[in-house]
Amino acid sequence: MEFEKGKLPEFICDSMFGKLAKWLRMIGYFVIYIKGTERKNFLNNIDLFREKIFITKDKKIKNENIKIFYLDEIYVEKQFKIIVKEFSLNFNNAFTICMECNEMLLKKDKESNKEKIPAFVYKNFDEFYECKKCNRIYWKGSHFQAMQEKLKAIYL
Ligand SMILES: [Zn+2]
Repeated sequence: MEFEKGKLPEFICDSMFGKLAKWLRMIGYFVIYIKGTERKNFLNNIDLFREKIFITKDKKIKNENIKIFYLDEIYVEKQFKIIVKEFSLNFNNAFTICMECNEMLLKKDKESNKEKIPAFVYKNFDEFYECKKCNRIYWKGSHFQAMQEKLKAIYL
């Protein structure tokens, strides 16, 4: 699939792809997650989301106005791999978006946030990011490194 130059693809994950939504946010892509309870309302208003890519396994959904990517895979690692390959995603913007809230992260000063950061992490890392909505602090720890390895493996 082709994209405008310089513009990252934005996704909508259907209710069955909650984990995938988090993984994609972690590598820096904006993802709207549709909870089961919001699904009906979303489907009624799907035309409003024509710039985005809707990831669903529901083949009954057909709409000419929105890009739909049908994904039929239960394991999140495999889902992630398929999406990364299909849309040529990369890690360049990892840690710019909160995994939980889909909000932009802000880079935080290390010293002034000492009390929010576990001591071990404070000792070993220098870059910290905070979600302005939920105030979660992120750093490029073991989880990040594991994801990076996974991503590399996808492209090998
Ligand atoms: Zn957040």
